Amino acid sequence: MGDQPGDGAEQPFVAVRDACKVYDDGPRPVTALHHVDLEVPRGRFVSVIGPSGCGKSTLLRLVAGLEQPGSGEVRICGETPARATERKMIGFVPQTPALLPWLDVLGNVRVLEKVNRAARRRSAAAAPPGEQGRCDLAGDPVALLRRLGLGDVLHRRPGQLSGGMQQRTAIARAFALQPQVLLMDEPFSALDEFTREAAQLQLLDVWQELRTTVVFVTHSITEAVLLSDTVVVMAAGPGRVAGTVQVGLDRPRHSGLLDSAVLHEHEHRVRELLSDAWRAEARSAS
Ligand code: ADP
Repeated sequence: MGDQPGDGAEQPFVAVRDACKVYDDGPRPVTALHHVDLEVPRGRFVSVIGPSGCGKSTLLRLVAGLEQPGSGEVRICGETPARATERKMIGFVPQTPALLPWLDVLGNVRVLEKVNRAARRRSAAAAPPGEQGRCDLAGDPVALLRRLGLGDVLHRRPGQLSGGMQQRTAIARAFALQPQVLLMDEPFSALDEFTREAAQLQLLDVWQELRTTVVFVTHSITEAVLLSDTVVVMAAGPGRVAGTVQVGLDRPRHSGLLDSAVLHEHEHRVRELLSDAWRAEARSAS
């Protein structure tokens, strides 16, 4: 892959080790995660893909510190998720954007500006040498919104926006907070295919400059391959990691890749892992 971060980037920045999670509040216990490992080096974009119910959201919630694993551990840059949350290291973009309806687009991105300023100082101090300049775009809400294609709607309220615009506003707000790790839970799943493709390319454009460490949950194989350095494939029954695919596509990535043989090869490998896992699940259920 071209344009790789330096050697220091290879240390796991997000580490989930041997995590198990059983929900036993229903009629039967559900093993949402069974000995799951996940390692995300600093500055990498990692997608998690798998069928409904395989534990993707549970995994993301553990990393966000919204839930605790039954066993195993989660670390963000060596800190517990609770401590990382306290230090505003983690950003979260949910499936449905939670925008404040009485503020316009710019207001929604600026709403946490005081937190931003503190975050900016912290990020600048924590950034490895040579990466400090990357904070500039995230520190300029108008530039960030323009790069996400929202330059013409800065003063519209959420009720006056399409779903795609709302979701991109939520993404701009998350980047503006300058988190060390950005967790995204199927942010484009409600969008039509054309809008989704445009939003993916705008996200890639911003990410290319900021290089925030991202864990991205998706149902779309193409989306996972187009965006990611690594695709983690999960299987259900119990929720586990079925395999990983390293995406060897050069960056920056562009729309032309969507029709390329090399992208299709990667899609094929992800699809194979998904169907192997599905066959194994069907065998064990029968
Ligand atoms: P995914 O995001 O891959 O669709 P989830 O992480 O949402 O999967 O869920 C994994 C499994 O855990 C599913 O069987 C789901 O029904 C179950 N589950 C998730 N959250 C809870 C909860 N709070 N209580 C009980 N079961 C849950």
